[in-house]
Parts: sequence; structure tokens; C-alpha cells
Amino acid sequence: MRPALDSYTFLASGKVREIYQIDDDTLLMVASDRISAYDHILSPAIPDKGAILTAMSFYWFDALGVPNHLAGGPTDERIPDGCVGRSMVVRKLPMVPVECVARGYLTGSGLIDYRATGAVCGVALPDGLEEADKLPEPIFTPATKAEQGDHDENISFEAVAAQVGAELADDLRRTTLDIYRRGAELAAQRGIILADTKFEFGRETDGSLVLADEVLTPDSSRYWEAAGYTPGQVQPSFDKQIVRNWLTSPESGWDRASDATPPALPADVVTRTRQRYIEAYEWISQKSFADWPQG
Ligand code: ATP
Ligand code: MG
Repeated sequence: MRPALDSYTFLASGKVREIYQIDDDTLLMVASDRISAYDHILSPAIPDKGAILTAMSFYWFDALGVPNHLAGGPTDERIPDGCVGRSMVVRKLPMVPVECVARGYLTGSGLIDYRATGAVCGVALPDGLEEADKLPEPIFTPATKAEQGDHDENISFEAVAAQVGAELADDLRRTTLDIYRRGAELAAQRGIILADTKFEFGRETDGSLVLADEVLTPDSSRYWEAAGYTPGQVQPSFDKQIVRNWLTSPESGWDRASDATPPALPADVVTRTRQRYIEAYEWISQKSFADWPQG
């Protein structure tokens, strides 16, 4: 018999996940099917999105082969009924309070910083780079962990060092870039560009880093299809483009500049987006989502 979800203490709820405490040393992270775009949580949810992204995290934790926070497999007996497939049982760790971002390509807040300063998080870049250009080499562009509802803010390596100490800052940079390189290389073999990603790290009692949170999912990373890669313009998002296109089309009637809640997604947009997430998982993992445990 699996435990009931309400036998665990509820700790926190993010944009897409709920965190529960299993015991003093163990957490349950349950991914929902919620999807956000343009800083709004949309409705309806995308069926199976939570399970698909959880499957991807499990795949990557295994494929990357670096120390991680998993304390059990996808069908661990501590996972409640109804949560199997979209839950991770993890070791509760002291977290490093830095969003560890690696970028291999220039876009988003990185491009904004670059246009203003010629650098991203203090990392100087060559002149003349355009939207979506590949960087000479991947860079570490940390950000503060914002309170819920706020935006993360890019900070310099020096600011990280001032906050957590030079040694840990060095370790974060080295480990972040190393894991990003491994992930990007593997994704490239499958025809996907991992433009950038965000990791979070916990620490062992000896201070060594443990890869935590979700990892290399489309919610924490930018996935681009390599076949369509065209620098100089905003790249379509592998996973969210269908939703974004609809939201910004006249058909939705929604004005992105307004503060209005976006309208409900039509059924075919939901169906196609679900298919797209499955495709991303299957491309990356070379496994069938039909084989992923759920219940
Ligand atoms: P957002 O919706 O913007 O991502 P959020 O980061 O607060 O908001 P989640 O990502 O759902 O929401 O929350 C995950 C939280 O759990 C983060 O605060 C993360 O740092 C923390 N966390 C992840 N792994 C562990 C772990 N192994 N031990 C302790 N805390 C962890
Ligand atoms: Mg988060």
C-alpha cells in the first residue's frame, strides 16, 4: 500500500511543483501538469507534462553520472498513489542559494545584458554577436534565487564569490560548465541544441556539490531543434512554441503587453503541446514514454 499524499507535510509550492517532507532527511517533489508562458500559468494544464518532465530528469540524472539528490527510483514505495511517474524522492540537502546557469548560446536575459554591456554577468564577449549566436565557449552566468513571483537577477561571478566564498563559487562554475557540456553534447547527438540551462546544487556535509532540483528539462533549459537553427533571430522553443504562437496570434485575442490573464488554450493546442513534450523526451532518452510508470 502506498502512503496517502496528505500523510506528508506540505512544504512549498512553486510554479509547477509541490514539495512535501517524507521525513527529516527526505523530500517528495511532485511535478504538476501546469505550464507557464510569458510569466503566466496557463489553463488548462498539459496532460502528462509533469510525468514527462520527471522522466526527463530521471533520464538525465542517470546519463550525466554526477552525484545527485535522488533517494529512490520512479516507483519508490514512498511515492503516493496518483503521484507515481511525476514524483522524485530526494535527499533533503542544504541548498546553495544561487541559480547556476550555463549558456552556450546568446539569448534572453543574456542577450539583453550583452547589448547593454558587451558582457553577460561580467563575462566579456566578442563584439558583433547576434540573437541566438553560439558563444565561443559556454559561460557561467549565475543568478540570484528570487522569491516566488520575482524574477531571478543575473549576477557576476564576483558577487557569487562574495556571497558563498571564492572556493565554492569556483566549484559551482566548474561543475555547472562541466555538466552543461556533457548534456549539450549528448543532446546534440540527438539533434537538439541545449542553448542554456539552470542547475541547483545541494551540499554534502563534506561540502561537495550534489546536483539537485530538476535537471535539463525544458522547464529549466532552452531546447532548440538543431535542424531549424537560424542565428540572427529568436529561435522557436522546442516545447512551448505552439503555445506561444497561439497566445500571440490574433485568434487568442490576448495582448501580451496587458496584464490580463491569458485565455484558455484550445484543445488542439493542448494536444499538440503534449505531443511535443513526449517527442522531446523520446528524442533525448531514446525511450518510449508509453513505458514510463504512471499511477
Ligand atoms: P519556480 O516555480 O520559479 O521554479 P521555486 O523554485 O520556488 O519556484 P520549485 O522549483 O518547484 O519552485 O521548488 C523547488 C525548491 O526545492 C527550490 O527552492 C529548490 O531549491 C529546492 N530543492 C530542490 N532540490 C532540493 C533538495 N534535494 N533538497 C532541498 N531543497 C531542494
Ligand atoms: Mg525552481
